[in-house]
Amino acid sequence: MSGKYTTRTCSCCGIRKPQPEMYSRIEYTTTGRSKTSISGATILGAMFEDKRSINSIRSTLFNSGQRTYQRKRTVWYCGACVPAKPKSAISAKTWMIVVAAAVFAAGFIGGFK
Ligand SMILES: [Zn+2]
Repeated sequence: MSGKYTTRTCSCCGIRKPQPEMYSRIEYTTTGRSKTSISGATILGAMFEDKRSINSIRSTLFNSGQRTYQRKRTVWYCGACVPAKPKSAISAKTWMIVVAAAVFAAGFIGGFK
């Protein structure tokens, strides 16, 4: 009985601290990739309308969603190493607005030349 909290190890610097002093981040790892893959020969076969190749591509495309697994794991960081924000915090929509604003601003400035 050394303490009432579980000790967590920082995945960045390796420091060990009790859980309340650590920050968790959820990370996803893609595992269990499909055994069936589209090879160059398969695509080439499909070009020449080889029925077996077409079926192979078809089954690969339709089954791809079911054969990919995402493993969820919790990663721990200490106060010094914790990432400020997860990368996913900036959505694609936000980026589109930023790009659109930049293009608009460039056009606006260009119009007054
Ligand atoms: Zn650390």
